This record gives sequence, C-alpha cells and structure tokens, in this order.
Amino acid sequence: MATLEIKDLHVEVQDKEKKFKKILKGVNMVMHTGEIHAIMGPNGTGKSTLSETIMGNPKYHITQGDILLNGESILNMTVDERARKGLFLAMQYPAEVPGVTNSEFLRAAINARRPENDPIPISDFLSELDKNLALLDMKENMIDRYLNEGFSGGEKKRNEILQLLMIKPSFAILDEIDSGLDIDALRVVSRGVNAMRGNQFGALMITHYQRLLDYIVPDIIHVMMDGRVVKDGGPEMAKKLEKEGYAGLRDELGLDI
Ligand code: ADP
Ligand code: MG
Ligand code: MG
Repeated sequence: MATLEIKDLHVEVQDKEKKFKKILKGVNMVMHTGEIHAIMGPNGTGKSTLSETIMGNPKYHITQGDILLNGESILNMTVDERARKGLFLAMQYPAEVPGVTNSEFLRAAINARRPENDPIPISDFLSELDKNLALLDMKENMIDRYLNEGFSGGEKKRNEILQLLMIKPSFAILDEIDSGLDIDALRVVSRGVNAMRGNQFGALMITHYQRLLDYIVPDIIHVMMDGRVVKDGGPEMAKKLEKEGYAGLRDELGLDI
C-alpha cells in the first residue's frame, strides 16, 4: 500500500504585481492506494493550487509544511521525478505538445517508470493500447496525432484518461476532469477512472459539481474553503452540499469566509 500525505501545507504565488499572495493556509490530508478521495469547494479556494503544488509546478512556493510519498518528502523532486515515483496529474487545461505523437509520449512515459534495460515490449504496449482505446470509445488514429494538438475539449479529457490507464500511476490527481464534458463523455471518462480502481491505485478528484461523484463514487470527500480543508465526510456529503450550497456549510461551521 502506498501513502500520500499532505502536512500543514502553506503555499504562496506571486501575483501580477510580483506580490506574494497566500493561497493554501495549512492543508492536511492522508491518502492511501485503494481509496478515491474528492475535493470539493467553491471557485478560487486553492484546489488547483494544491494539485499543481503536489506535482511540483515551480510557480507555487511552499512556505511551510511537507508532502510525503511513502514517508519520503517529494518537495525537492522535479516534476519528472515525481511522475517516475508514481504520481500523475490530469490538468484542467492539458497542454498541446506539437511534434510528439500520443503514442510516442505514452511509451516514453511508461518506460520512464521501468528499469532502463527493460522497456515495455511493443506487442504488450499495443495490446494494452487497443484495450484501453476500446474502453474509452476512442478512435485508433488518436494515437498517431500530436499530443493534444487540435484535440477538442472532450478528446483532451479522454486522452488524459487514456494516459492514466496506460501509465498506471500509484496516485492520480484529476483536476476538474468533468469540466466541459457532455453526459456521454462524462460516462466514458468515469468508466476509465473506475477501471483503475483497486488496491494499487489512489485518486484525488477535484470538482465543484456533485454530478461527477455520481459516476465515480469517492470514499472520502474533503471540502476546501479559503485555502483550508474545512470538513471531511463520506460520499453522502456531496448530495448535501449540492442541496444546501457552500453557504449552508459556512453557516454550519460558523465560518466567516
Ligand atoms: P480553485 O482551483 O479552487 O478554483 P485556484 O487554486 O485556481 O482555485 O486559485 C486560488 C487562488 O489563487 C485564486 O485567487 C487565484 O486567482 C490565485 N492563483 C492561483 N494560481 C495563481 C497564479 N499562478 N498567479 C496568481 N494567482 C494565482
Ligand atoms: Mg477554478
Ligand atoms: Mg481549479
């Protein structure tokens, strides 16, 4: 079992005037493989900041706290090192990478997690790819196209889930994978994430809609407001939040934020 632990994390970013702005103000969370966690919370509370910080985006400055993977701090690791250790980030806005095909990218990413003298055999790679393209209702020619170049919003999201299924990380952070998806695409994306479920895999799903959580039912929900986790609960909490809104929770907790 792998563990990802976020300990009293404080993070700042520089705004346009180069002034440091506090965004995360002491986030605590412990995740294990085998569990699906969800973070919900209003816009602008630091959900994406948390996921970018876990993946090592240098724009985010950690002023206090730590992030531990299996007890080892990852703060001094590069983005690549974190990925090799088994972390995966699906971004809210996936980047286009002209000149690198989807299939080249996937093979390189898979091989980066294997010993140097033991790359994945091509036949294994192709059969795994066929299986996952079918699961996600993706066209075969998607894999020969340059990574995300000219992909529609829905294609980008499916492609992120294809990466997840192929790379098989220990922990995935899925930031608003539901944004901009129609209901059919949402079903397909959820099918992919649910196929990953098992004791070798943990996920942190970020969303501000409850709808996604009807398809990928989390074990634990964390509600974030103003840079902190203000409440933890089970899957039933999503329904309550949908009904009462974040304002209801603010009142319940007596928060003035
Ligand atoms: P969420 O994902 O919960 O909507 P974000 O983490 O994107 O929230 O943003 C939290 C706050 O931090 C917002 O006020 C946002 O404007 C600010 N912020 C995030 N990233 C940056 C950045 N790179 N530069 C300046 N401000 C940022
Ligand atoms: Mg946002
Ligand atoms: Mg966000």
